Amino acid sequence: MRKLFFISMLFLISVSVSAKTKQPLYKDKNAPTEKRINDLLKRMTLEEKVLQTNQWTYGKNANANNIEASKKAVRPEIGSLIYRSISPIYRNEIMKKAMEESRLGIPILMGFDVIHGYRTVYPIPLAQACSWNRDLVSAACAVAAKESRLSGVDWTFSPMIDVARDARWGRVSEGYGEDTYANSEFCVASVKGYQGKNLSDQTSIAACLKHYVGYSLSEGGRDYHYSDVSPQTLWETFMPPYEAGVKAGVATLMSGFNDMSGIPASANPYTLTEILKKRWKHDGFVVSDWASVEQQINQGFAKDKKQATYNAFMAGVEMDMVDNNYLETLQQLVEEKKIPMKSIDEAVRRILRIKFRLGLFDQPYVMELPEKERYYKPQYMEVAAKMAEESYVLLKNKNNTLPLSKNFKQIALIGPMVHNKVDMMGSWEAQGVTDVVETIYQGFEKEYNGSAVLNYAKGCDFEGEDESGIEEAIKVAEKSDIIIACIGEKKDWSGENASRSTIALPAIQEKLIAALKKTGKPLVLVFSSGRPIELVRLEPNADAILAIWQPGIAGGTPLAGILSGRLNPSGKLAITFPLTTGQIPTYYNMRQSARPKQGKYQDISTEPLYWFGHGLSYTSYSYGKVTLSATKITKTEKLIAEVEVTNTGAMDGKEIALWYISDPVASITRPMKELKYFEKKELKAGEKTIFRFEIDPMRDLSFPDSDGKRRLEVGDFYLTIYGQKVKFELL
Ligand code: BGC
Repeated sequence: MRKLFFISMLFLISVSVSAKTKQPLYKDKNAPTEKRINDLLKRMTLEEKVLQTNQWTYGKNANANNIEASKKAVRPEIGSLIYRSISPIYRNEIMKKAMEESRLGIPILMGFDVIHGYRTVYPIPLAQACSWNRDLVSAACAVAAKESRLSGVDWTFSPMIDVARDARWGRVSEGYGEDTYANSEFCVASVKGYQGKNLSDQTSIAACLKHYVGYSLSEGGRDYHYSDVSPQTLWETFMPPYEAGVKAGVATLMSGFNDMSGIPASANPYTLTEILKKRWKHDGFVVSDWASVEQQINQGFAKDKKQATYNAFMAGVEMDMVDNNYLETLQQLVEEKKIPMKSIDEAVRRILRIKFRLGLFDQPYVMELPEKERYYKPQYMEVAAKMAEESYVLLKNKNNTLPLSKNFKQIALIGPMVHNKVDMMGSWEAQGVTDVVETIYQGFEKEYNGSAVLNYAKGCDFEGEDESGIEEAIKVAEKSDIIIACIGEKKDWSGENASRSTIALPAIQEKLIAALKKTGKPLVLVFSSGRPIELVRLEPNADAILAIWQPGIAGGTPLAGILSGRLNPSGKLAITFPLTTGQIPTYYNMRQSARPKQGKYQDISTEPLYWFGHGLSYTSYSYGKVTLSATKITKTEKLIAEVEVTNTGAMDGKEIALWYISDPVASITRPMKELKYFEKKELKAGEKTIFRFEIDPMRDLSFPDSDGKRRLEVGDFYLTIYGQKVKFELL
């Protein structure tokens, strides 16, 4: 009895007040976070805990694929909301409900899909990767973070780091391309940009790595389908970007929709607990993708909601996005002693930890600034324009068609993209406003400002059979000195639930280009897309080709600047352009075939049209001989590789050095080469610089086995950079 009394006293003391402030300990902002969490957890009922593990939606639905659930009254105890309004006032009202109407006043975490900008929409992630500019990616994400937080959003479901090699899958647009290292680097850059120095700053938001894991291998590029990911591929290709993001301190992860080799990604204890929580020691939380808990029923992994909850929760998914599975069944599972209370506490602890780190308990409300003080600041627009410029990739430039000759006084701007705003945005435009998008035409008007006549014809639509506009387009081309043909994809042809059986553009667009070519005028093909395009029939008709992806709101001026020669293109592909759809998958780091000279396609070339890393400039760079600090190193030594690069052309430019390593013989076969480092530098005309790569054997020469344990094996290695291949040995 005395013992019980003593324990209850202790409990009361520990949950009651912090003596000086007369407030519960969890409300004391000077107390250590873990103590605050302990104190709060002790006060919470099971129902309150369960509510924390649920996410609902609120406000305008910006995701066309997710049909808005019937309007639910927000429960003040709910853990999180997908916040689809731009209003800080609205957010503060909801937050007030949580802070004042719930028993304990736990703030609601407001999440939203801020994928490539919030209001100041900048290029899609695939484009960003083609800039090879980590700082710029960070800067863009920091802009998005500021605009979001001031509009009531604390948490973004970004970055997507699903390494993607099948361009039929519409979500290639949302990630950083086909390479694992590139995805890792841009993952870290974006996490740093979003989360800033401190999550509690009013300019930072929590990031979320998605879709953990193996989602991009959906069969045939069909979204939401089965993904067969071998343990070796899982570790080599898919896990490193997640590991890098976790090491960079990401607050959260999202578990994928995909059934990965028989275990749905949202119910996989190996990836979610064994690796993420135990091996990588991630202390934030995992949110399921939209209804992916309940979708286990479709996938044949759970017979009902309750089993789906059990599977996902016990595997390590702490928060359930929108399907109410946890809300309806978690409490019962605890009461039936199928799920232990300590697992609930651990899950809630992780969610609360992120809320504390965001400072939401101490500052739940946001400033109520008018829109003009939140969006489109000149420095934000500058970042968006710079990102567009650096992401554009010049794929072809026959006889220096570009930059446009100053003698051209009549420029034909032809095609459905010329005046287009809506598709320049790309999918997931967050709270972007179509009206403010700068069109290609507007960019040219600004650039030429009357010094050349711009002749416009639409020519054709994006799709369909209507050829009636082609004749007028030919007339416009004939009276002009050059044709700039602007074609491409509509924004909803890529992104979520936007799979295509072919990555070719509809025939009508190819017809337009073929007809324009017949005029004999030089033709520059500018195309906008969310994926690599099958250019096999377009390429022979174009003298120059520029990929502009989906640049967002500030793409027109940089495009016109590149074509006029005011700006020098510097982007390089972060994803291979197959010659035809039938070549998929083709990516640069494939493994060697058993018969390298055989097994080719009989009907087409086996080579893609443009490899990963391809991208031209208006200047030329000459590479000196690569030097190594040694030809043999031990496992604990570093090897320094250097190469002198000179801008030998007449124009200032930015060069990107891509360093690859090959390991020709290993206990698990290795890809023919793997990107291990990249660097981008500005070089004035005539200027020289040294590109340097410090090879760390454990980081750069080892490889994972099928459980992610790294093997570092002695033997010969090769370092390659732009055609030079140098050998060294690991002793
Ligand atoms: C997508 C996620 C997204 C979520 C919330 C899902 O349909 O797969 O990428 O973050 O919806 O909108």
